[in-house]
Amino acid sequence: MNYPEDIVSEILLSEEEIRKKAEELALKINEDYQNAPLTIVCTLKGAIFFFADLMKNIHIDCRIEFIKASSYIGNTTSTTGNVTISNSNFEIRGRDILLIEDIIDTGLTYYQLKQYFKAQGCLSCEMCVLLDKKERREVPIQAKYVGFEIENKFVIGYGLDYNEAYRNLPYVGVINPKYIK
Ligand code: 5GP
Repeated sequence: MNYPEDIVSEILLSEEEIRKKAEELALKINEDYQNAPLTIVCTLKGAIFFFADLMKNIHIDCRIEFIKASSYIGNTTSTTGNVTISNSNFEIRGRDILLIEDIIDTGLTYYQLKQYFKAQGCLSCEMCVLLDKKERREVPIQAKYVGFEIENKFVIGYGLDYNEAYRNLPYVGVINPKYIK
């Protein structure tokens, strides 16, 4: 079954725009983390497409790892504030951690991930995020690398889901409200 043609009410970012932005951000990361014991951590599942675009342009020595951080339950479009971290069984102590995220909204997920990595003895913990809903922030936290600032609308595609669907749309778009249950 194909997705409905009107699943998005607006396309915010094309594949090409995102790819170019990932190239730009990767250049900065290459400069900033020269000679650092860098571990780049992709947060599943939303960041996978952005992570792949970034990694193709990162040329410095680094490790890659994957964690799962979930704060939404089922088909809701707002965060629960309680973040569950899983799959984080890798070396953190003495490493510079760079988290790759799809979107920062209230900031609670990033805040809790940062606390977690600090408690595990990382040297530093920063974030590179594709989308930033700055006006929604509930904790004073800022990603070091931001792709695009966007308005407070629920977006899907390029890894981002609604109730586990639409991650494979090749662009970021605003979900048509008629499909929100
Ligand atoms: P925060 O903890 O910053 O409020 O939320 C971060 C997480 O909320 C993201 O990793 C993402 O899973 C989810 N999220 C926030 N806004 C959106 C949105 O517009 N669309 C989708 N699909 N997920 C969102």
